[in-house]
Amino acid sequence: MKKTVLITGGAGFLGSHLCELFLAKGHRVICVDNLLTGKTANIRHLAKNKDLEFVKQDVSKALGVPGPVNYVLHFASPASPPDYMKYPIATLDVGSRGTRNALDLAESKRAVFLMASTSEVYGDPLVNPQPESYWGNVNSIGPRSCYDEAKRFSEALTMAYHRYRKVDTKIVRIFNTYGERMRKNDGRAIPNFACQALANKPITVYGDGSQTRSFCYVSDLVDGIYRLSASAEHEPVNIGNPNEITLLTLAKIIIKLTGSKSKVIYKPLPVDDPKVRRPDITKAKKILKWSPKVRLEEGLARTINYFKASARGLGT
Ligand code: UDP
Repeated sequence: MKKTVLITGGAGFLGSHLCELFLAKGHRVICVDNLLTGKTANIRHLAKNKDLEFVKQDVSKALGVPGPVNYVLHFASPASPPDYMKYPIATLDVGSRGTRNALDLAESKRAVFLMASTSEVYGDPLVNPQPESYWGNVNSIGPRSCYDEAKRFSEALTMAYHRYRKVDTKIVRIFNTYGERMRKNDGRAIPNFACQALANKPITVYGDGSQTRSFCYVSDLVDGIYRLSASAEHEPVNIGNPNEITLLTLAKIIIKLTGSKSKVIYKPLPVDDPKVRRPDITKAKKILKWSPKVRLEEGLARTINYFKASARGLGT
């Protein structure tokens, strides 16, 4: 029997990869998206598949579909810092009303609920790497708070539905992820650096470039999420790649991989930009038997090829 998986934010970067994965596993997928930062082009290659249904709906306002639903994956939200700072109210709405609507749907359908949380719940962390047990260091009123606090609220609401309403819930804390179908202008480091390098334009490193991130290739990430959806774990699980590098090193790797003539230029560091970030993935390794497989250079080469093809009008 085919299972039905409803994915909010299914036309976004991660959502579209999840649509693809769950279809490939033989499930029916309902992709719900209001196309604020997602786009139908992200799922166009799946359009011929009869098991995919697209519903244009703002999940902050309402979320209802007829028939059985076995899984609700709540991935709707702007996720890049420039996006959520451009749409702060919509970000808070989808991480509060949207999460509530998605949880109510899961409860009424007796479906498994999986919430896309984030390493941003750790804020500018005072411990590195970050285990799930770390409570974080978050500025509740800064420019990133619309995203960080919406996700922290979503986690709290998800745990309340689990504890008091017995919904079968999961929470994945997603660390920086990259790959095909990121928007070239979404403002995050990898699309910016890759597109700047391909155009031989200056690479914009914010601050002195000594801040760190740990970048996970998208196929590894969705594999971890798939495993979590099938697990019996209800508390948050970090999914990300623990290979921590500075942003300046990332810029240099991308210049090398593209053979670019670009030079690094320095721009001001955004307010509250975390200085370090690295997932402790001990828990995911143990309970999901998961660890990332794709090396940074390999994933970056694929992503750069995608941006190259997009620039020639061949990408989605
Ligand atoms: N960053 C940068 N140049 C850019 C875009 C981002 O140096 O053109 C830095 C940003 O300040 C942060 C890191 O790259 O320290 C990762 O930023 P991103 O927006 O990709 O995601 P974040 O981890 O902040 O959510």
